[in-house]
Amino acid sequence: MTKFFFKSAKINEFRLWGLVFTLVGMGVMILGTAGIVFWGQAGKIIAAIFMVIGMISLLISVAVYFWAGMMSTSATMLQCPECGRQTKMLGKTDRCMYCRTMLTLDPAQATHGSQEQQV
Ligand SMILES: [Zn+2]
Repeated sequence: MTKFFFKSAKINEFRLWGLVFTLVGMGVMILGTAGIVFWGQAGKIIAAIFMVIGMISLLISVAVYFWAGMMSTSATMLQCPECGRQTKMLGKTDRCMYCRTMLTLDPAQATHGSQEQQV
């Protein structure tokens, strides 16, 4: 039933998005500050807007990190059959954090998942 669109383990995916939002937030704030240098008085308004956007982005990144942390505590610990390393999985289907093998607790999806991995 559940369409699987993540390219890597869900926990890693959330960490990646958290990082993206942190970088975007910082980048936007730096750009806003640079606006003062380039446009003087008018740049201050732009800088203020950019600061707010940057702050929102940073808040989102904190929320994403927090959410990822919350989910990783409820994640299932298991040993990956492919690389033998200890990994965490979220929900019924997830990828190994190390070798990205499709892992599933649902036997109905197991065959489909391993076929997809052949690519
Ligand atoms: Zn693995």
